[in-house]
Amino acid sequence: MSTPEFQQLAHDIKLWASELGFDQVGITDTDLSLEEPRLQAWLDAGHHGSMDYMARHGMMRARPHELLPGTLRVVSVRRNYLPFEAGFAATLRDPTLGYISRYALGRDYHKVLRNRLKQLGDRIEQRCRELCQVTGEWRPFVDSAPILERPLAAKAGLGWIGKHSLLLNESAGSFFFLGELLISLPLPLDAPVEKEQCGKCVACINICPTGAIVAPYVVDGRRCISYLTIENDGPIPEEFRPLMGNRIYGCDDCQLICPWNRYADVSPEPDFSPRPNLHRPPLLALWRWSESEFLKHTEGSPIRRIGYQRWRRNLAVALGNGPATPDVIAALQLAQDEAEPMVAEHIAWALATLARRQQDDSKKTRLLIRCIEKGLPDHA
Ligand code: SF4
Repeated sequence: MSTPEFQQLAHDIKLWASELGFDQVGITDTDLSLEEPRLQAWLDAGHHGSMDYMARHGMMRARPHELLPGTLRVVSVRRNYLPFEAGFAATLRDPTLGYISRYALGRDYHKVLRNRLKQLGDRIEQRCRELCQVTGEWRPFVDSAPILERPLAAKAGLGWIGKHSLLLNESAGSFFFLGELLISLPLPLDAPVEKEQCGKCVACINICPTGAIVAPYVVDGRRCISYLTIENDGPIPEEFRPLMGNRIYGCDDCQLICPWNRYADVSPEPDFSPRPNLHRPPLLALWRWSESEFLKHTEGSPIRRIGYQRWRRNLAVALGNGPATPDVIAALQLAQDEAEPMVAEHIAWALATLARRQQDDSKKTRLLIRCIEKGLPDHA
C-alpha cells in the first residue's frame, strides 16, 4: 500500500470508530521506552500489592510489539461512560446506601468495547483486502492484556496523564473507558497532547480518602479503595476500613474533585445506564442478597468478577461505617455464624465498630440530658 493509501485508511479508521460509537480515536507507535523506568520503580516499590499479574508480565506492558509480534501501531480509542443520573453526592452522603464506582453501574464495558474494536478491526481488514489482498495482524484489547493503555492513549493524543494517574482530556475530563487495537500497518501517527495541564492543582492528592496518591502521578495500589474493594482478595487492612465510608465497589473521589471533570460529557450509551438495583442501593438490601441473587443481579456487570465473598466483605465494612441501627446489627449478627472466615472477621469488625458508636452516642445523649436538666449550654 502507498503512503496516500495509508493516510486515507487512517482517516477512514477515525470515521468508522466514530460510527461505532467511540468518542475519540488516535494512532501511535509502540515505543513506550520512556515509561519503562517509571513502571519498574512502581513495581519495585510494591505499589501493585497482590496484583501479581502486574509484575509477572514485567516490561511486556511497555512493549506492545511483544504481545503481538509484528505490531507497528496502536489505535487507541475512548468512550465516555458517565451516566445521566450519576447521583454522586446523593449516594456518598447517605451512609445507608452503597456507593459503586460510576463506571460499574451498567453493563460490563469490556464486552461492549471489545465487540466494537473487533468490528473496527474487521473493517480495516476488509479495506486492506480490497486494496492489496494483504490484511496484516490485528488484535483488540480492553483492559484485558498486559498493556500500558494510558501512556499509549496519551501518545496517541487522547489526553495527558493527570496526577491521579488517569488519563485526562481537555474537553471530556476522565470519565471514559479506553481500548486498543494493535495493528501491523504503518499508519501515520497522531501527535500527543503538547503538555499536561494539571498545573499547580493537587486536589486529587488531597481528597483521596486513604492517601493513595503518594506523590504526583504515583498511586500506591495497596492504599487505593478501588484496589482494596476490587482487586484485593484478602482482608481489607483495618486502618483503611473507617476511611472507606460506604464505598463498596471502587471509588471516584479523585475524579470527582478534578476541575477538568466539569466538562465531562454524559454518555448516551444505553449499556452504561445504571441498573436500578445498583443505583443508590440500600446497603441492607444488598446485604440480604443470597449468592444466587448476587449472581443474578450482577450478570453481565463488572461487579460479578469480584465474587460473592469479596462483595460481602465490602458490604460488611460499609455497614460498620453506617448508622448503628437495630436492623443493621441484627442482620450482621444473623450472618456471622455461617460466613466464610474472611467475611466473618469483617462482620466482627463491623459489629465492634457499631457497638463503640452506640456507646459514644449514648454518652452524648446522657451529657445532653444533664445539660438540659442543669440549664447548661449544649456541648454534646
Ligand atoms: S485534580 Fe488537579 S492534579 Fe488531580 S488530575 Fe485533576 S487537575 Fe490534575
